[in-house]
Amino acid sequence: MQSTYNFWLVALSLVVAALASYTALDLAGRITLLGRTLARHAWLAGGAAAMGVGIWSMHFIGMLAISLPIPLGYDLRTTAYSLAIAMVVSWFALFIVTRGELKASRLAMAGILLGFGIAGMHYTGMAAMQMQPGIDYDPVLFGASIAIAITAATVALWIAHTLRDSKQRYVITKRVAAAFVMGLAITGMHYTGIAAADFPAGAICGAARGINSEWLATTVTLFSFAILIVTLMLSRFDARTTLLTGSVTRLTGQIVRMAAFDALTDLPNRRTLTERIELVIESSRRNGKSFAILFMDLDGFKTINDSLGHSVGDEVLKAFAHRLSSCVHEGDMVARLGGDEFVVLLEDLASPRDAEIMAEGVLARMRKGAWSDGQPMQVTPSIGISLYPDDGDTVDTLLKNADAAMYEAKRAGRGTYRFFEAGMNEVATRTLKIQSALHDALSSGHFSLHFQPKFRGDNGELAGAEALLRLNHPELGLLAPMEFIPIAERSGQIVHIGHWVVRETCRQIRSWIADGLPPMRVAINLSPRQLMQPDLVNTVLEIVREENVDCHQIMFEITESVAMQDAPKTIEMIHAFQNHGFEIAIDDFGTGYSSLAYLQRFRVKQLKIDRFFTNGLDADGHEGDAIVSAIIALAHSLEMDVVAEGVETPSQLAKLKTMMCDEIQGFLLGKPLTADAFGTLLHQQTAPA
Ligand code: C2E
Ligand code: MG
Ligand code: MG
Repeated sequence: MQSTYNFWLVALSLVVAALASYTALDLAGRITLLGRTLARHAWLAGGAAAMGVGIWSMHFIGMLAISLPIPLGYDLRTTAYSLAIAMVVSWFALFIVTRGELKASRLAMAGILLGFGIAGMHYTGMAAMQMQPGIDYDPVLFGASIAIAITAATVALWIAHTLRDSKQRYVITKRVAAAFVMGLAITGMHYTGIAAADFPAGAICGAARGINSEWLATTVTLFSFAILIVTLMLSRFDARTTLLTGSVTRLTGQIVRMAAFDALTDLPNRRTLTERIELVIESSRRNGKSFAILFMDLDGFKTINDSLGHSVGDEVLKAFAHRLSSCVHEGDMVARLGGDEFVVLLEDLASPRDAEIMAEGVLARMRKGAWSDGQPMQVTPSIGISLYPDDGDTVDTLLKNADAAMYEAKRAGRGTYRFFEAGMNEVATRTLKIQSALHDALSSGHFSLHFQPKFRGDNGELAGAEALLRLNHPELGLLAPMEFIPIAERSGQIVHIGHWVVRETCRQIRSWIADGLPPMRVAINLSPRQLMQPDLVNTVLEIVREENVDCHQIMFEITESVAMQDAPKTIEMIHAFQNHGFEIAIDDFGTGYSSLAYLQRFRVKQLKIDRFFTNGLDADGHEGDAIVSAIIALAHSLEMDVVAEGVETPSQLAKLKTMMCDEIQGFLLGKPLTADAFGTLLHQQTAPA
């Protein structure tokens, strides 16, 4: 029997095949994203149904494209079988390509099964025609159709697997092209299968009264188009929702992380630490165990930040966080409270000694260096330790007490640790109060200068004054520099305070001159932090010039121990000061292990003997005298004047005079005075007797 083909229906079958293939590719991408969820199973089932309908309807449209000179029809049950086969085969295909890695052997196996499946669907569909006598199949073409089905299935599986990653570039274009190729292969198989069929002459279609073929063609085409397009749209829509849900989940994750972890170091933050300590308190209360909090603050971090910049500061913090984490045991929490403050929570303490060992370990490790993080610097922390339950049973108390102990460690010379002791709290509280008092002391005018007179040793005349800073706080009262200068030094505020001292001293000098009093040289103390400022000399010079004061009227005092820290740099700075006419004195001499070689090279105007030695004149008998007269002789041989500080008794004064001490400073002859009182003193001194 001669069969002919309707070209349009053939083309339509190709389009349906390509659309079914595209749906398959899109679904493969979709399902891959879903992981092992319920949605994955739903999409596998739904997708398989849609794809099955697609492939099956392509087949039927292909069948309808043939016309035989006899009426044709299809048996409903057999047709349903072929549809079922198409769906099962589609499910299998989708399952294979979305299941992670696709090895060659598995691909081949799957391709063979799928090929047989498609062929099975096709020939079952042909059987639905119930031709009598039966169709004769040409064995070669029949074999070829199965070979094509297997090859097409294998290639299709491979393409679908390769294109399942929806994030590839041009994935849609690639899928459209692939779908077209796959469609061609499927239709190729179909028409080879048809070509293999030989309808014997005089055969009739036993199902001609089954389903009407034209009705079937229209319904099947519309139905399959509808299903495929709806499936595609659902897949797109679901992809977008999943994408959105994915982004929201990621964002929520990030927010949760930001709330719990410190962004710079990735360590738990204060909140997380607090929650953990609360839990540990709970469990320790139940099982009677003890734990420790090690509160750490980096030594000299402010200086690093100020002099090298914030990005270097950040690197230092990150490196420290990393190093600290490697010093603790697994399970101990390392957290960053903010700034340069870190906390280690040490659980299950057998004894306080465990905390001590940990603190010693951290300090030793930090000092030793040799880290792989490429940071050349060595940073050590000061560590304060509080223990549960002895030092507190709430998070706040434990942290506050560890902080107070940390301050003690700082005061004890940094790079060390201290256990909390009762009494530290008052010190810490006062330190905090002073810190906040310093905060607005400059703008609120809480600072003032006192001037302590210095007298000549030979004739007792007024020789000059030393400016001494006072902090007059409405709540804390009048504070001595020993109390607030170390705090201002630590916070860096001393730099600005120091500028104020220079300006205020100049203002006083000018005001005394304006009152007709004789010019008087005033000494100003410089702190270590000020001396580290690279532009110190120029800044000071600018202020003095602005205030219209002669540089010769100002002397700067540098403590001996500080001067010796970096002696070559001190020499440079001293000479820079001297070049502008400022004088320099070495303060608190005798406490700083001077090298005589450097002392000679400093070439300063004055050496101020520390109060300790002046006191020794009374307390240490002959030895005390010997030391002071040796210092004076040494200074004189280096062409320096000597000032004795802290002269409190007439006997000290008498001895100093016989030792040819050039100047005398101390409560005996004059306490530090307010500017007005010092003006009065100046006036008395110069008034003719
Ligand atoms: P310093 O430079 O050695 O100043 C002398 C200190 O000895 C002053 O203490 C002074 O009041 C005290 N003093 C003077 N004569 C006697 C005495 O006969 N007996 C006793 N017991 N003490 C005496 P003050 O004013 O408390 O200053 C302490 C330190 O604070 C100063 O020691 C100085 O190092 C520092 N300082 C003071 N003002 C400033 C300042 O403006 N800037 C900086 N950076 N440091 C300052
Ligand atoms: Mg001084
Ligand atoms: Mg002194």
